[in-house]
Amino acid sequence: GRIAVVVGTRPEIIKLAPVVHELGAQALLVHSGQHWDRELSGAFFDEAGIGAPEVTLRGIGGQDRARQIGGMVTALAEALEAARPDAVVVQGDTNTTSAAAQCASYLGLPLVHVEAGLRSFDRAMPEELNRLVVGALADLHCAATPTNVDNLVREGVPASRIRLTGNTIVEATERSLRAVTGRVGLPRHRTFVLATIHRPENTDDPVRLAAILDELGRLPAPVVMPLHPRTRACVERFGMGHLLDPLEVVAPIGHEEFLGLASHAALLVSDSGGVQEECTVLKKPLIVVRNSTERPESVEAGFAHLVRPGPAIGALGRRLLADRDLPHRLRGVPSPYGDGSAARAIVAATRELVGSLRRQPA
Ligand code: UDP
Repeated sequence: GRIAVVVGTRPEIIKLAPVVHELGAQALLVHSGQHWDRELSGAFFDEAGIGAPEVTLRGIGGQDRARQIGGMVTALAEALEAARPDAVVVQGDTNTTSAAAQCASYLGLPLVHVEAGLRSFDRAMPEELNRLVVGALADLHCAATPTNVDNLVREGVPASRIRLTGNTIVEATERSLRAVTGRVGLPRHRTFVLATIHRPENTDDPVRLAAILDELGRLPAPVVMPLHPRTRACVERFGMGHLLDPLEVVAPIGHEEFLGLASHAALLVSDSGGVQEECTVLKKPLIVVRNSTERPESVEAGFAHLVRPGPAIGALGRRLLADRDLPHRLRGVPSPYGDGSAARAIVAATRELVGSLRRQPA
């Protein structure tokens, strides 16, 4: 039978593409339509080489959380009932992840969670609630790190349902870097900073957003910033356009181009989850602008530094940019997210789960 792989946002497409490749013709790719614009979604299917989704839900984007998740559960129920897959694979912690996890569980379909066991212990984060929902429901938890395994065990998940697989971002990053090598022209600046900011905790609060943009604008190196549509909308709403003037603002770019830039940057600044993992493959220093992180491994390994919006960004940025020995030190540190074999392990464990359920029907 088929294995349904449900995606909805940019990071899910990037991180589940290696799983779709590994499944081959067995994969039934479903797009919830949570991110529906080409900038954040369409282009990523092409780039990852996984083709267009077989099923795309309509009318899901741009609602509040409760209605969006409710609408997706309903629409997914029809799609999954029609397809009757052997299992449903979800990734991460988005509204799509929560909806697909609930839908699969209520329909009695085996549920596999990729990137299981992340916890920020901060329930004010929308993603933390999504993580708790899918953590309670999954039949198979594919954890990227030992810390993630520990979080699940502490919540009472039986060890037999957990696999330590590593994170597919490692192979996704390696693939994009291979594709981009020699294709994208080198950036104009020898030393530059690459920054992305898009989380509501940073964009929806004018004081925080102004503090971040102001600090970025005063770093002692040019700052290239692919501007997320949410961030652009907030900058306009708050009348902060002038704070973008010192920055080199560009539209959101594809994964290959983003990693091509990141691999040449002297410093990364971001509030993204995925970038906290990618920096460990790129061996680049990263300033994480957030209240909390569910990825302490990147901090512990010495790649990432967690700071709140404000002067700490500039102070730390200047220190990291001045540290001549830092690139050399980071080059020798392995990624805490594995060796690029996560997709293979996830697909093997999924097929094993399907096989074991077939032998002993519930
Ligand atoms: N990314 C990209 N183009 C950009 C900015 C980011 O391809 O202009 C990639 C980035 O490399 C990472 C992913 O998008 O793999 C992160 O997605 P996002 O920040 O939307 O979500 P999060 O990781 O915070 O869940």
